[in-house]
Order: sequence, then structure tokens, then C-alpha cells
Amino acid sequence: MAINIAKSCEGSFYPFSETFTLNDSVLDGRLGKITSPCVVDGTYVVEGNNVHIESRVKFSIEFICDRCLAKTDRDFDIRYIGSYYLDSTEKSEGYIPYFNDLVDISIGVEPEVLLRLPSRVLCKPECKGICQKCGIDLNEDTCDCEVATEASIGTNNNPFAVLKDINNSTGGAGNGSTEG
Ligand SMILES: [Zn+2]
Ligand SMILES: [Zn+2]
Repeated sequence: MAINIAKSCEGSFYPFSETFTLNDSVLDGRLGKITSPCVVDGTYVVEGNNVHIESRVKFSIEFICDRCLAKTDRDFDIRYIGSYYLDSTEKSEGYIPYFNDLVDISIGVEPEVLLRLPSRVLCKPECKGICQKCGIDLNEDTCDCEVATEASIGTNNNPFAVLKDINNSTGGAGNGSTEG
């Protein structure tokens, strides 16, 4: 959960790997669920009362498609850079406090995760969504709602539909006679 810097020499870079569970608050009220632990791999360096972190953060979230409501998995691999200050010392802007020799990076990582989540998630770029009328998933099936609309434009509401039928029958005969 926290990096222990008690035995770290100032100015040296140390590798670290931390795993923790992201708080649901990173979803910021949107539908979805965190489906993996948050794994942070990187290096840290101690500089006076400050600790600087550079890392990669990996985690997975199951979203709900904004168009068709299908469950949609997303894997994230983001870069995280943060600076921490010992709580008893004067704080610097943008720095996050740590206590004793323990640096809890989840405090800095979670707000970063929240910022990096997409505002809109689709199960696939060309997702057709669900029919507004009957609620069918248009990615998997078609419904009569659309077809009925097209048919009504094509025949019932088109005054030239009748003419088209006449043209077809006479035209067919004409073609036949020309060829023959
Ligand atoms: Zn979808
Ligand atoms: Zn429909």
C-alpha cells in the first residue's frame, strides 16, 4: 500500500511496485465497475523531505456502452508523476503529504485515474445502439420499426409509386420488343 523510504539514500532512484484497490469514487458516479487491482510500477527518489514518483499505472474497468448498454471492458496503462512532502514540513503547491517514512501513492494516483477516464465509452466504434422504439439491440438484430418507416416513404406516401409500377410493366414490354 505504501512505499517505505526509511532506508532510502537521498538522490538515489529506487524501483518499486505497489498494488492496491482503486476506490469506486474514481468512477465519479458513472456506471461501471473496477475489475482489477491497480498496479503501479515505477521509481522514486528522495530529495530532502520530498519524494518524487515516476510510474506507470495499470487497471481495468468494466463500463456500460453509452449507446447499447453492453458491458465494455477497458484496460488502462497511464503514466503517473507525483511529488510528496513529509507532513510535518512546509507544503509545496501540488505536493501530496506523506507520513513518517510511508508514502501512500494511492492518494495521488486516484485523482489522476479519475481525470484519465474517458467521458464516453462505446462497445465498438460503429455501435448501432438500441432501437428507440422497441428496445432491440441493433448490433445483433434488426427490427420492423426502421423497415416500416422506409416502406411507408417508398410506397404509401409517394404519389409517384403508382407511375413507377406502370413504367415497369410497359418498360418491360418495350425492352422485350426492342431486343426481339
Ligand atoms: Zn454498444
Ligand atoms: Zn425497433
